Amino acid sequence: MIIVLRQGTPKPEIDQLCETISKMGSVTINPVIGTDLTILGLIGDTSHLDPTQIESFHCVERIMHVAEPYKKANRSFHPDDTVVDVGGVKVGGNKLTMIAGPCSVEGKGQICGIAERVKESGAAILRGGAFKPRTSPYAFQGLKYEGLELLKEARAHTGLPIVSELMSPYDIDRFIEDVDCIQVGARNMQNFDLLRQLGKIDKPILLKRGLSATIEEWLMSAEYIMAGGNEKVILCERGIRTYETYTRNTVDIGAVPIIKRLSHLPILVDPSHGTGKRWMVSPMTKAAVAVGADGIMIEVHNDPQHALCDGQQSITPDTFDEIMKEIRVIAQAVGREV
Ligand code: PEP
Ligand code: MN
Repeated sequence: MIIVLRQGTPKPEIDQLCETISKMGSVTINPVIGTDLTILGLIGDTSHLDPTQIESFHCVERIMHVAEPYKKANRSFHPDDTVVDVGGVKVGGNKLTMIAGPCSVEGKGQICGIAERVKESGAAILRGGAFKPRTSPYAFQGLKYEGLELLKEARAHTGLPIVSELMSPYDIDRFIEDVDCIQVGARNMQNFDLLRQLGKIDKPILLKRGLSATIEEWLMSAEYIMAGGNEKVILCERGIRTYETYTRNTVDIGAVPIIKRLSHLPILVDPSHGTGKRWMVSPMTKAAVAVGADGIMIEVHNDPQHALCDGQQSITPDTFDEIMKEIRVIAQAVGREV
């Protein structure tokens, strides 16, 4: 339930209303003081609340019922766009956030070299997998803790904040220490224990869309994290499974405006996993920017032919540089800065 308050309602009146609501039932009250709107977002079992009593308060303009099962992630609970600070980089603001780096960290020269190049081209955040969720147990699984150490070296070398995928709740403390943003991969989007744990921490979470997840299921996963108190969630569309086999996945480009309508959370697009083909990264990046994505996450490798993971969809630093130049004009056309 959402209670829209009259503009300029003095705080003591809001407090009095909150106290009355608390006596009626066990709901959590989230006040949101926006630029044009002040609302109270009520989460929990609202069936015991008496709307007539609530409406009798002078400060109440109207009551709205939220039909969707996601509340904290719902735009009606938070009309303004959320901006998440990742190591000083604002994700979700007017500036597009470009995240680039290899699928997997493979060595010091590799990660530091790529970090330097993508930074020069305009990337704001460095990505790199240390723990890799591979389909085959015989495939390269990542450098694990050593990979995190190398990412930290690349951050120290370039100043770029780092994002890396966490696969197990056992490593949460280590990730809190080491990275600026924790990635939850597509395969873990519905690992509810992991999501619940991430809800208790104070660190940005990049939540990728599950392989076959609906938009509502994806937002419910965001809700798991937010319900615990961590509201620093960034969504990432990375393609979904469809009947089409030409591409690795099908980029659901329509998910961007849908998320923008339903939620206040920032939304990124990952055209690398979305297509699985390096030649499609540039056109899908342009499409994502045009449709209103808040940023793009791209796999960049110094030697894609010999990458230990996802070489077929990785682009070189030179191609990344060209893409950065190409998207400037599109970004400008939709009122964004690169
Ligand atoms: C990744 O970003 O390296 C990754 C494994 O992505 P996804 O979870 O989207 O497959
Ligand atoms: Mn990858």
